[in-house]
Amino acid sequence: MSDAIGTGSIAVVGAGVAGIMTAYALAKRGINVAVIDALSGPAEMCSRANAGIIAVGHAKAWAGPQAIGAMMKAIAGRDPSVQITRLSDPALWRWGVGFLLNCRPSAHHRNTDKLQRLSHYSRALVAAAETEMDLPKETRHHGGLYLFQDQSQFDAHAASIKRQGNGSIELLSRGALIAREPALSVLPNLVGGLFSAADSVGDCQLFSQRTAAYLNQACRVSLHFNTRVTGFRRTGNTIEAVKTERGEIACAGVILATGVETPDITSPLGFRPNIYPVKGYSGTWTVTDPAGVPALPYVDETELLAVATYGGKIRVTAIAEFAGRDRSVPGKRIERLTDYMRRSFGDAVDLKTAEFWSGLRPTTAAGPPYLGRIRRFDNLWINAGHGQLGWTMSLGCGELLAQRITGERASMTDVSSRARWLS
Ligand SMILES: Cc1cc2nc3c(=O)[nH]c(=O)nc-3n(C[C@H](O)[C@H](O)[C@H](O)COP(=O)(O)OP(=O)(O)OC[C@H]3O[C@@H](n4cnc5c(N)ncnc54)[C@H](O)[C@@H]3O)c2cc1C
Repeated sequence: MSDAIGTGSIAVVGAGVAGIMTAYALAKRGINVAVIDALSGPAEMCSRANAGIIAVGHAKAWAGPQAIGAMMKAIAGRDPSVQITRLSDPALWRWGVGFLLNCRPSAHHRNTDKLQRLSHYSRALVAAAETEMDLPKETRHHGGLYLFQDQSQFDAHAASIKRQGNGSIELLSRGALIAREPALSVLPNLVGGLFSAADSVGDCQLFSQRTAAYLNQACRVSLHFNTRVTGFRRTGNTIEAVKTERGEIACAGVILATGVETPDITSPLGFRPNIYPVKGYSGTWTVTDPAGVPALPYVDETELLAVATYGGKIRVTAIAEFAGRDRSVPGKRIERLTDYMRRSFGDAVDLKTAEFWSGLRPTTAAGPPYLGRIRRFDNLWINAGHGQLGWTMSLGCGELLAQRITGERASMTDVSSRARWLS
């Protein structure tokens, strides 16, 4: 490869939101960075058409005491929001055992605490990054809503919020919700909700693309797209180059931000991060009447859907499906998204403009991502496994990893999922 980078560069493998924000944190410290991705541009995999919510209010570990019953319901096929379509997948069984071990209350609290700290920290960095890169200020920081259409579910959530005494969460009746967000009056069964002041919303793919362009132009970060990494050249415990389909790229260190494909790339090195692809779907429509759609993003906790508007579009995302690496978008999933859009905001959008997409959330069994150095190697790092909160935690995870690599004082510690192979 003619554009081989200097031996002082850090190679970031993966140009999803995790990889791009890691590159940003490194480049701003004056480190030479090369970003390498198998696809044609930034954020073309899971970071492409997600809900775009910097969902601090949603930062809780999925694995917990209540999740066991929910999983049983899903296995029995009685939950439209959680689907298990590939039960025979050995990777799912391995992940499932890890998930069950993390359902103990102590593990749930520990993992939720990590996710909350990462999310709060990360959200605080977004506006500063927009300013520093002189990007259009399109990420909105006005909070987000969590809605309930079932009174007993709302009461249970409200009681738990009151117990936790979380000051950034406000409880709202149906009337108070509609006063704050009039477009929600179209939801007939809405009983109440929560307002999370710490939430933000913005287009994750666009933010990643703009950051990559800035890094390339202002910081001379080299971007290698359509370039799949196939392995590593190493001497002892030190990686000296990444091997790609297009030749070798020499480097001083490597960061794996490879999402659901991380176990593929690490297997030949002797370890497999327990990351499972949890598939989700989105539908995106052009807004024709901005007053008829909500300005605040929301998660419908009863129907398990998320809705957000930006760039003249409205997007609905839904479903956690365990289907291996399958990325098809079956008709019945399209129907579910379309049905929700039609009955909720059908008068305010052009229904003919729908674009449907599926993405594979790189989900660890515990919840928090793997973040740190691979124990057996001097210069191999990982930032992968952000599940349903990859955009939410991206700037924070990048920053924390850069701090570790440069030996700076860490802004926070003990936020990673644990693993024997990780230091
Ligand atoms: C429906 C849906 C809605 C979501 N909504 C939200 C939300 O509102 N808020 C939020 O915070 N998160 C949300 N998420 C989660 C979020 O999208 C993910 O956590 C995030 O995109 C993961 O980013 P990533 O960079 O780790 O992975 P990816 O974006 O998948 O990037 C990994 C990259 O690595 C590359 N790669 C892998 N292997 C190789 C290799 N060998 N060589 C070269 N390149 C390689 C891939 O090509 C890919 O580009 C949602 C996800 C889904 C599916």
